[in-house]
Amino acid sequence: MDTTIRIDSITAYSFRIPLTRSFRISVGEMTVKEGILFEGRSGGICGWGEAAVDRIPFYTTETVGSVLDVSRQVFCPLLLSRSWSGISEIVAALDCYRGHRFAKAALEAMCWDIRGKQGGRSVAHMLGGTRAWVETGPSVGMKPSPAGLVEAVAHELEQGFHRIKIKVAPGKDDEYIQAVRTAFPAVSLMVDANSAYHPADLARLAEWDQYNLLMIEQPFNEHDLHYHAQLCARMTTPVCLDESIETPHLADCAMKMHAADIVNIKVCRVGGLTHTLRIHDLCAKHQIPVWIGSRLGSGVATAARLAAASLPNASFPTDAGAERAYVADDLLTTPLETRNGCELRVPSAPGLGIEVDRARLAACTTHQETQTR
Ligand SMILES: [Mg+2]
Repeated sequence: MDTTIRIDSITAYSFRIPLTRSFRISVGEMTVKEGILFEGRSGGICGWGEAAVDRIPFYTTETVGSVLDVSRQVFCPLLLSRSWSGISEIVAALDCYRGHRFAKAALEAMCWDIRGKQGGRSVAHMLGGTRAWVETGPSVGMKPSPAGLVEAVAHELEQGFHRIKIKVAPGKDDEYIQAVRTAFPAVSLMVDANSAYHPADLARLAEWDQYNLLMIEQPFNEHDLHYHAQLCARMTTPVCLDESIETPHLADCAMKMHAADIVNIKVCRVGGLTHTLRIHDLCAKHQIPVWIGSRLGSGVATAARLAAASLPNASFPTDAGAERAYVADDLLTTPLETRNGCELRVPSAPGLGIEVDRARLAACTTHQETQTR
């Protein structure tokens, strides 16, 4: 087996997939999913990676436009410029450039897919994953009324899910959480604020211990490790950091400040699977459980997340895959395999273990461009 990675061409596809229903979180509402797929060709092998961004800076500062630009100007020419000894050398080269972690994660996933197909191993296996199936749980967006939210949660429970996450923000919190908790006293329930609260809300948030939540996710701004640490000290409910954990270094700082009881690792936010593994291992060393978060997108991104969710310290259900109901088309030839309504099989075929349906991709593509070596 050739142990080097030599990429001949990279094609970027901007895609646009309608959502089956709109999705609202604290910062806004989404009705269509836009993103970028990268296809890398190496000899007869092709690998895929997805940048889980949006047209506007909705969850991250990166956008479809910024990913296209930085990949065109910097990352694709870099990847095509030489042969690479392995993924870690590619990651080190990408990390010479600041930020743009969603773009880096997509291109790194493409390289993992190629690498896995070269060696006949799944990405999950190469990472050290230990689970063949992972439990998933849905993220329920904000609804106009508490009754509407209870109805949406009931719908998810009927699908077979056990872990329910609801989005909260000031004015969309106590009444809504209380309504869901009253309707479903025993359900495994967590809330995600996507940074919607301020340090002045700390005492009020601490009162949410009364709701017996699995965790409260990212109540404060991503830069507020100090206030998250204060909340951790004040609540018995575990505090989970999501947006704050952008790098292994920030994860290390958060652990040392006791700013998180749980960490949500989004593969795209931390710059790829290599950094995901580093944060996973670091958290394990500090006995902090993690779980793998998700963003709306296609099955290509989901496959990379499932590989990460198979890791041993990924102890809580993942969002990955549970968002499928929102996306009208996931661009795969064969859908990801489900069991019992709430479990997804970690792809075990070489690479990411998925195949892109080119006709469906073509139908969703709004722009494409190719660079060659
Ligand atoms: Mg979150």
